[in-house]
Amino acid sequence: MRLLKKWLEKRFYPSQIFDSVSSIPLEQLKQQGIKGIILDLDDTLIPQNSNEISIERSIWLKEAISNFKVYLVTNNRSLKRIQMFQTRFNIPAIIKAWKPGTKGLLSAIKQMNLNFDEIVMIGDRLFTDVFAGNRVNVQTFLVTPIQKPKFLKWVRTLEKKMIDYVS
Ligand SMILES: [Mg+2]
Repeated sequence: MRLLKKWLEKRFYPSQIFDSVSSIPLEQLKQQGIKGIILDLDDTLIPQNSNEISIERSIWLKEAISNFKVYLVTNNRSLKRIQMFQTRFNIPAIIKAWKPGTKGLLSAIKQMNLNFDEIVMIGDRLFTDVFAGNRVNVQTFLVTPIQKPKFLKWVRTLEKKMIDYVS
């Protein structure tokens, strides 16, 4: 059992858990030597079914952009959706990243030109965002998804059980 717990922790346990991206203390990250932030899009910054960002998240994101290198890495395939977001915030993005595959993440890290220990990956999913981040050895922050998912509810339930298990 202890081995299983260790195995799960290494892959799926986030470095920290937050209610929302907007409650992640950027000043503190800066003091810890973090220079780059890789962000998931859907249900981390904006709801899956909308292009509207909340005021709190928008303020947080703007502050992040002016203090860190910020990169979007999303599994979403909609170029239009990303372009709308990029036009507004002007941040580089990788779409169709296939997280928990590491290719998208590694290519973002390469372009950010930072060390792995200077980067944090932020997302709402254990099995994609956190797993991918842990695989490439960057810090991983899990945030509560903006919307409750209608599909794949059992995956969420399993993720929640695992968070309870490893914490
Ligand atoms: Mg997401």
